[in-house]
Amino acid sequence: MTAEPSLLTESRIRAAYSEGAGIYRILPRAVAVPGSVAELAALVRWAADTRAPLVPRGAGSGMAGGNVGRGVIVDLSQGFRALTVDPARRLARAGASVTWAEINAAARGLGLRLPPDPSSGAFATSGGMVSTNAAGPRSLRYGSVRRWIDAVEIVGADGEIRVVRRGGGAGPWHPAPETRHLVDQHFPKTRKNSSGYALDAFAQSGDELDLLIGSEGTLAFITQVDWRLEPIFPDVAGVALGFGELEALSDTVPYLLALNPSAVELLDRTILSFVEAAGVTLPAGLACLLLVEFERETAMAARGVVGDA
Ligand SMILES: Cc1cc2nc3c(=O)[nH]c(=O)nc-3n(C[C@H](O)[C@H](O)[C@H](O)COP(=O)(O)OP(=O)(O)OC[C@H]3O[C@@H](n4cnc5c(N)ncnc54)[C@H](O)[C@@H]3O)c2cc1C
Repeated sequence: MTAEPSLLTESRIRAAYSEGAGIYRILPRAVAVPGSVAELAALVRWAADTRAPLVPRGAGSGMAGGNVGRGVIVDLSQGFRALTVDPARRLARAGASVTWAEINAAARGLGLRLPPDPSSGAFATSGGMVSTNAAGPRSLRYGSVRRWIDAVEIVGADGEIRVVRRGGGAGPWHPAPETRHLVDQHFPKTRKNSSGYALDAFAQSGDELDLLIGSEGTLAFITQVDWRLEPIFPDVAGVALGFGELEALSDTVPYLLALNPSAVELLDRTILSFVEAAGVTLPAGLACLLLVEFERETAMAARGVVGDA
C-alpha cells in the first residue's frame, strides 16, 4: 500500500474548490496541491490503490465542469512553474502551472509568440489549455492549441511518468483499423468540435498526443508542455464593422475570410448592451459589431487590407 498523501480537508478550502467558472457546485472530499512530478506520481499511485477519484485542476476557468468533482481536487496551478524559451528551435517548455500570458511575456522579447489566444490567457494554465484544446479569436488562422503542442510530460493513471510526443505513436491505445474507419466515416466534419475525445484527430494521426489534447483531465495529468512558437508579424491593423442585422454577416464573412484575417470576433446585441451599460455610446440600430484583425509583413499592406475590408 502506498503512503497516505498530504490532503487539505478543511471545509473552507473544500468550499473554495467546489466551483470553477462554470455553473456547477460540487464539494470535493479533499484538495491536494502537489509541488513536484514525483509528489504527483505518488498521489496517483495512492489513488489507484485506494480507488480515490482525482480531479485535475488548473486555474479553474474552464466552464464545462471538468475542474470540479466529488473526489480529490488536484491543484496544478502552483507547483509546476518552470519556463524556458528556446528561440533557435522556436519552442517554449512550460510547466503545467505556467499561463498563456507568462509564455507570451517570455517569448515576446525574442520576437516570438504562442498564436492561439484564449480570452482567458491571463490566467489559463498550460495544463488547462492542453486539456481543453483551448482556442481564441486568432484560431481562425492558427487553429486551436492542438497544432502548437510538440510534446507533453504526463503522469498516467498508473503513476508512470512519461513524455508523449507528436509523431510518437499511439502509446497504450490500440484502435483497430475498423474503428479508425468508423470514426473517419461518422465523426462530424466541423471546423471546431469540443465534444468528447478528439477521436478524429487521433484516428488520423495515430498519435496518443491527439487523444490527450482536449481530454479534460480524464486520461492523465499533464505536468509539462512543449509549445511551438511563431514569429510575431511586423504589422497589424484592425477594423470594427457595424451591422444593422445579424443576418448580414452571412454575406460579409466569406468576403472577409478571403482577405485572410488573423482574428475575427463577433460582439452581438447582448455584449453590446454591456458595452452601453459601461457608458459607451454606440450608433443607434446597431445589431452587432464584427472586430477583424489583419497581420501583415508591412504597414502599407496592413493599411491596404483594412481599406479593402
Ligand atoms: C472569461 C473567460 C474567457 C474564456 N475564454 C476562452 C477562450 O477564448 N477560448 C477557450 O478555449 N476557452 C476560454 N475559456 C475557458 C477556459 O479559460 C479555458 O478552457 C482554459 O484553457 C482552461 O484553463 P484552466 O487552467 O483554467 O483549466 P481548468 O479550468 O482548471 O481545467 C479545465 C479542464 O482541464 C483539466 N486540467 C486542468 N489542468 C490539467 C492538467 N495539468 N492535467 C490534466 N488535466 C488538467 C481539468 O480537469 C478540466 O477538465 C474562458 C473562460 C473564462 C472564464
